[in-house]
Amino acid sequence: MKIQEEICIPYFNSTEREIIYSSLEEAAGYLCKFYSFSPREWFNHCYDLKTEQQTIIESSDKKAFAEIGKYTPVLKDSSIFPKERYQICLFDRNILKVLWKRPELEFYPFMVYLLTHELIHIARFCQGFHPFDCDKTALQKEEQKVRNLTQQVLNTKKNEAFYKISSLYNKINPVPCPFSKPIQS
Ligand SMILES: [Zn+2]
Repeated sequence: MKIQEEICIPYFNSTEREIIYSSLEEAAGYLCKFYSFSPREWFNHCYDLKTEQQTIIESSDKKAFAEIGKYTPVLKDSSIFPKERYQICLFDRNILKVLWKRPELEFYPFMVYLLTHELIHIARFCQGFHPFDCDKTALQKEEQKVRNLTQQVLNTKKNEAFYKISSLYNKINPVPCPFSKPIQS
């Protein structure tokens, strides 16, 4: 699906939002395989996703495609769910602006690529490979690591669309994903 420019509504429409949730499912599948999480394991319970229109979070970087927030949900002591959760907040306008400018990029594979990237950040927080709180230098290094891992995860699919996105990713998204302050549950 190619994205049509809607000058007055720079936010995802309902069809695009449905596609985003399917992309998230596909991306989670790749992560489960890559890290050998079982599909029903804790990983699927430690994140959720919102779009810019559904949240009041302000991006700390105006060019980022997404930002990750952390929060502690209210749970019973016996709950099997993780005590900390992460929220991916997509910045509709930044994503749509890039896709409007580059009609060669298709929406669905682009979102699978982007969400695989965001889920790798989260998987690494959850496994203690990288702390959520870090300074700018560490953030930059972690971003590069996650970009490399995203290529590794998706290159195994041998999919033309992923190769295309991968070769352009650093150019179209030069900034690391910000990790926002913990959000209120
Ligand atoms: Zn990132």
